[in-house]
Amino acid sequence: MKKVQLFFFLFSAFAFLAETYAQQGDPKATELWEPEPRVVTSAEPTKAPSDAIVLFDGKDFSNWVSSKDNSAPKWLIKDGAMVVVGGTGDIQTKQTFNDYQLHIEFRTPDKVESEGQGRGNSGIFMQERYELQVLDSYQNRTYSNGQAGSIYKQTMPLVNACRKPGEWQTYDVIYTAPRFHPHNGAVASFGRITVLHNGVLIQNNTTIQGTTPYIGAPQNIAHGKGGIRLQDHGNPTSFRNIWIREL
Ligand code: MG
Repeated sequence: MKKVQLFFFLFSAFAFLAETYAQQGDPKATELWEPEPRVVTSAEPTKAPSDAIVLFDGKDFSNWVSSKDNSAPKWLIKDGAMVVVGGTGDIQTKQTFNDYQLHIEFRTPDKVESEGQGRGNSGIFMQERYELQVLDSYQNRTYSNGQAGSIYKQTMPLVNACRKPGEWQTYDVIYTAPRFHPHNGAVASFGRITVLHNGVLIQNNTTIQGTTPYIGAPQNIAHGKGGIRLQDHGNPTSFRNIWIREL
């Protein structure tokens, strides 16, 4: 390369960089350093992070009560899991929450009985009202907005990520509670929910339209914090390793 060519090459390169910098400005201008996100450790994806509230560690019902009368739950604890005892009713956490990240593991019965909504049915109610369906939806057709991972009778899951009956499965939930106007109780903003089922996104910031009744339309009645409620739908579905991080 001749000297004059080299000069023009370097000049062009410098001009290009100067132009780019002039167009885009100082990269530091868009750097945000404070606050610094605090450090949270977690041993494995399924184990509770250091700042989580452990709601069930496999040992006892100390954080739970029967939904109907606040008495001690009548469900079983077997092999580190809580198991629904049909007819004893729903159970819920003593502690109540607004916005949170929730991890919960569930297992539908390995002995396949019944079909449709009768197979491994349970549910996880956000704030005691909004049901994320638990069901054995492995090769078990039912209405799409009532299968596993649906916001019951509202929004079907994006995909069916169900494992076989008898296998442990996970739900990881990010929940934003609805807000209500203080003067008249009307909805100010609807609840939102994101769910990963066995690590697969099935609800992507889905709007919760209101309560999730078996019959009829969603209702929106103002409320404050609520517990995590687990459904007794008559099937011996199991739960374990339940933890929550308030947001
Ligand atoms: Mg259910």
